[in-house]
Amino acid sequence: MRALVLLAALVAVAAGTETFIGHQVLRITPTNDEELQKVQELQDLEELQLDFWLAPRGLGQPVDIRVPFPSLQPLKAHLEANGISYSIMIEDVQTLVDDEQMEMLRGRRGLPVSTNTFDYATYHSLDEIYTFMDLLVAENPNLVSKLEIGRSTENRPLYVLKFSKGGTNRPAIWIDTGIHSREWVTQASGVWFAKKIVQDHENNEGVASILDKMDIFLEIVTNPDGFVFTQTQNRMWRKTRSRRSGSVCVGVDPNRNWDAGFGGPGASGNACSETYHGPYANSEPEVKSIVDFVKSHGNIKAFISIHSYSQLLLYPYGYTTTPVPDQKELHEISEKAVAALSSLYGTNYKYGSIITTIYQASGGTIDWTYNQGIKYSFTFELRDTGRYGFLLPAKQIVPTAQETWLALKVIMQYTLDHPY
Ligand SMILES: [Zn+2]
Repeated sequence: MRALVLLAALVAVAAGTETFIGHQVLRITPTNDEELQKVQELQDLEELQLDFWLAPRGLGQPVDIRVPFPSLQPLKAHLEANGISYSIMIEDVQTLVDDEQMEMLRGRRGLPVSTNTFDYATYHSLDEIYTFMDLLVAENPNLVSKLEIGRSTENRPLYVLKFSKGGTNRPAIWIDTGIHSREWVTQASGVWFAKKIVQDHENNEGVASILDKMDIFLEIVTNPDGFVFTQTQNRMWRKTRSRRSGSVCVGVDPNRNWDAGFGGPGASGNACSETYHGPYANSEPEVKSIVDFVKSHGNIKAFISIHSYSQLLLYPYGYTTTPVPDQKELHEISEKAVAALSSLYGTNYKYGSIITTIYQASGGTIDWTYNQGIKYSFTFELRDTGRYGFLLPAKQIVPTAQETWLALKVIMQYTLDHPY
């Protein structure tokens, strides 16, 4: 086993893959304004190459930072000099990356041949997920179809699965996973949701009544360029892979690129930032394709965009403190959805508007969809709360998907019961 891990690491180095040997994830929980300010200032220290897994939110809210090995001692010294305490969430990031890699290699037996024998409890490559989609369509031609809504920057097809029992332009529910490519439990959950919809499409405890009236659209790999990059070059890649002249830095944060408070506070104009908003709204084809789809469809009633991590269910707004007109209703739906989610394994979720629950973020997906008139606009942040962060072990995929599905059903059922 040890030799295999070593081999995997050597292969990674040989392939030019980014390694995280000796990187740690540190957690700082600011307890006063001065500490919060100091932690916020760390985001501007580009030379330390810190990767904020959880950006500063507020007092008492954890900040998780992946610290490259060469920056560890300087950062720890800086924190200690300022009297800021920290804990080590992950001792060595590469160890978790290696474990994940070994787990994926162990399960690999070529491309899937059936969605019944597909291994839902492991992480998959883009080819495997795209093959899964084709199998699901082939196995269920009267229920599932596949749309190509556009192409990514690197010309990969942007596929959306459509689940429909017929009718034309029925009211619809949209779900997307993986717009931030490193949030692997989300794409894996998306795959599981797709199969679950098929399994439960005639079941009244499932989605039968929903599909009798509405369609469901599911984009599983919303940022395929980034996803491939996480599997071949850099496991921690979050953004798209677009390039622009005048900058060596690649990619835009696709959750800051929407036309809602675009370019405002909580997004960066620095192309090297993890929250770079891009040159203009909808500059990213991965975003523009959804915008065009939503507008041309014209009858989407619920829009759910799924991220990880930190166990939150959020509704608009993120770009302004002005509450949405439907705040009370969205809050009540969130409460019910979270209760359903927690009922399965006791997983604890918080909920609220983006700006009050996490931080100000402009150009976000669901602020735009809400302003388009899609009242039931939500974002999830799935497991966990930081023990593994983006490197959630594969054995948690199915439980995560199962519990999240219960919350999704609450939102879908509510949307069905409250037409507008
Ligand atoms: Zn995200």
